Amino acid sequence: MIEIQDVTKVFGSGEGAFRALDEVSVTIRENEFFTLLGPSGCGKTTLLRLIAGFEGPTGGQILLGGEDLSGQPPYRRPVNTVFQSYALFPHMTVAENVGFGIKMLGRPKSEISGTVSEMLELVRMSHLADRQTSQISGGQQQRVALARALAPRPKVLLLDEPLSALDFKLRKEMQLELKRLQSETGITFVFVTHDQEEALTMSDRVAVMSDGEIRQIGTPREIYDHPAERFVADFIGDTNFLKAEMLGREGESARLRLASGQEVHARASEATASSGTVTLAIRPEHADLAPEGEGVLGGTLEDIVYFGTDTHYHVALDGGGERFVLRKQNQPDEDRGYQRGDRVGIRLGRSAGQVLRD
Ligand code: ADP
Ligand code: MG
Repeated sequence: MIEIQDVTKVFGSGEGAFRALDEVSVTIRENEFFTLLGPSGCGKTTLLRLIAGFEGPTGGQILLGGEDLSGQPPYRRPVNTVFQSYALFPHMTVAENVGFGIKMLGRPKSEISGTVSEMLELVRMSHLADRQTSQISGGQQQRVALARALAPRPKVLLLDEPLSALDFKLRKEMQLELKRLQSETGITFVFVTHDQEEALTMSDRVAVMSDGEIRQIGTPREIYDHPAERFVADFIGDTNFLKAEMLGREGESARLRLASGQEVHARASEATASSGTVTLAIRPEHADLAPEGEGVLGGTLEDIVYFGTDTHYHVALDGGGERFVLRKQNQPDEDRGYQRGDRVGIRLGRSAGQVLRD
């Protein structure tokens, strides 16, 4: 529904020119909770500002429902934005804030009061309608900002790190709340965050960005289980990287030889070469500890770190000392009896992990 085609954005010119977005292409579907995820400075806000129309692209185009948006000023686009700073008017009440935007659009009075009540109910703030916004909490201000942005019934809601100012517990609560709002209203959400857990838990699909480019687009599960390249595997979750030799590939199933001499199978995209040295990415929870001499890798336990829900085992692999981290869920009062310095084996699943694109 939102088609972003080869969009480039260059700030400045000549020597000082900076390419904030480099031929970015992505199609965001109707009714989707879509997330732009990436480290600070990778171009997330710039892409949102282009969709909103606060900036024009240097190259490429943006279509909404098949219609080219270029030349349409922000207020003419069926798009609204929620910023990190809620930007509420402190001298107005909650209800006045929610009604402000639609009043400016010239909607009739009767319609405005109806919409305001409806929006306040949607974000569960009806009981505070007459409170000044300077006298409500940060989480409540966030809800008012959401209600205000939803009031004109945009087709698309852009949310630029809207939860980052909230403390941990409130952020968790608002994550669920935002998901509920999205599915109840059916509005397409384009959500920006640098927090990988937030992206995985909330989104229908995620685009992982770095340095002005999209590195991978997929469902949270696709991106976590099958990261396409090292940046994605590293940025999202924890990953073990092993050098391995490619022995052959049939479709997406690859056969590899590890440094230990053992052979394993792993997933590899069709684009991966079928010979040569490659990098294998293995999630810490997708491996098991085994007695010495068993499994496909061997090493010495260097650290055992207890995290409550799980325990992390750090293994220095034989022959080179690469580190491998395993994560095992804890059972009540269970002690697996491992100690630092123990010699161990490492067992991998039938498919060991994902071969990364170079
Ligand atoms: P993010 O939101 O992912 O943190 P931004 O989109 O805000 O990143 O910025 C991407 C890059 O573009 C940054 O290096 C930033 O300094 C630069 N940038 C953003 N806006 C401007 C501007 N108006 N002029 C010059 N450089 C800018
Ligand atoms: Mg930003």
